[in-house]
Amino acid sequence: MSGPEEQVFHFGQWKTKDWADQLDWAQEATHYRHRRRKVARIPYGQETFREPVEASRGPCRHCGTIAGKLHDPGCDYEECPVCRGQVMSCDCDPGIVAPRPEPG
Ligand SMILES: [Zn+2]
Ligand SMILES: [Zn+2]
Repeated sequence: MSGPEEQVFHFGQWKTKDWADQLDWAQEATHYRHRRRKVARIPYGQETFREPVEASRGPCRHCGTIAGKLHDPGCDYEECPVCRGQVMSCDCDPGIVAPRPEPG
């Protein structure tokens, strides 16, 4: 039996295949577009607004990404590369740039 609820081992954790696909997609979505600029997204562990050491202790508590990988876009713990605030609550409202449509 396989389907969207199927569990897969991904980034060192068990998660649903849907979520693994989502995070794989997030790794290809490397930039935000802000006004007319493309700005590189900030991987987990390189944030300046939180303790980077947290990334060495375990996966992101919100989206399950791991150190050095990108968060799911808009994750609570993702840092905005424009204002260095929390991307989900800042006013930059950057658009994601991805080579293929988001799964699901
Ligand atoms: Zn995250
Ligand atoms: Zn911002």
